[in-house]
Amino acid sequence: MNRTLPTSTVGSLPKPSWLAQPEVLWSPWRLQGDELIEGKQDALRIAAHEQSNRGIDIVSDGEQTRQHFVTTFIEHLDGVDFEQRETVRIRNRYDASVPTVIGDVSRSKPVFVDDARFLRQQTDKPIKWALPGPMTMIDTLYDGHYKSREKLAWEFATILNQEARDLEAAGVDIIQFDEPAFNVYFDEMKDWGVAALERAAEGLRAETAVHICYGYGIKANTDWKASLGSEWRQYEESFPLLQQSSIDIISLECHNSRVPIDLVELVRGKKVMLGAIDVADERVETPQEVAVTLRRALEFVDADKLLPSTNCGMAPFPRDIALAKLSALSAGAHIVREEISAASLTEAVR
Ligand code: ZN
Repeated sequence: MNRTLPTSTVGSLPKPSWLAQPEVLWSPWRLQGDELIEGKQDALRIAAHEQSNRGIDIVSDGEQTRQHFVTTFIEHLDGVDFEQRETVRIRNRYDASVPTVIGDVSRSKPVFVDDARFLRQQTDKPIKWALPGPMTMIDTLYDGHYKSREKLAWEFATILNQEARDLEAAGVDIIQFDEPAFNVYFDEMKDWGVAALERAAEGLRAETAVHICYGYGIKANTDWKASLGSEWRQYEESFPLLQQSSIDIISLECHNSRVPIDLVELVRGKKVMLGAIDVADERVETPQEVAVTLRRALEFVDADKLLPSTNCGMAPFPRDIALAKLSALSAGAHIVREEISAASLTEAVR
């Protein structure tokens, strides 16, 4: 990537209302059969072009072809029964009815590769594809087979690595693993979570990213955040391990959040995908507000390693607001980019 401060989103964007009911998670599709396939592709095309038109430098699929960032991937694997459901507590926060692992898990064919190939055709810009991380996957399931979170996570890591290699071959430049569970299960994260993540990313030529956040702007998450006190120091647990890991890019939540910005120092040397757009507030940031967050981050990350982004996915937002936030992100990054190049010119003249 040649550009300073290349912008991207964490992943999801709202779907068009003709494809799925807006502003809800796990929204059922409104089309079927061939119409659904065509509808998903049209939505993906729109998402890619809106990102490009609004100046986003690293383009994603907006997760237009998936109902949910974790379950859609799992649905395509063998060994999981979606009819047999159990209620479990997700990330120690809210109860959800989830599918059951009934046998050895495996991937009989690629899950997202056709979609990634389609995205590749839509743009010349670098593209990024998000997959769930192993620990977040096991936290969204009831395991009636392995009876071991660690064992199941390692199985998923192997499957994720197969999928990631296929995505890379389809032309994906950055593969991102979403691991919000790293902000919750610190002991497991240290024991085997980071190792399982590295296994998922093993041997890739594409850049790899891990996204850790405080979740979508839904009530269960905002209630949880309200209980976390005045400073959110959860990243202090994962960042030192990730700094030592093979993962290239660390994606974190920052704007309007109570995360102390100096925690970014803990991943010094890595690229940092910094959340400069709030996904829990529908008010659209001004470019200046985005710029303020980016300038603060630049005290702790070198300019050539900062990637301005959103705090998390924007799927639950009204569509016009999510799109306006893309423009705000681009405009804010532009302000800081100009400041950096003016400063380096002054430096050169001296
Ligand atoms: Zn997130």
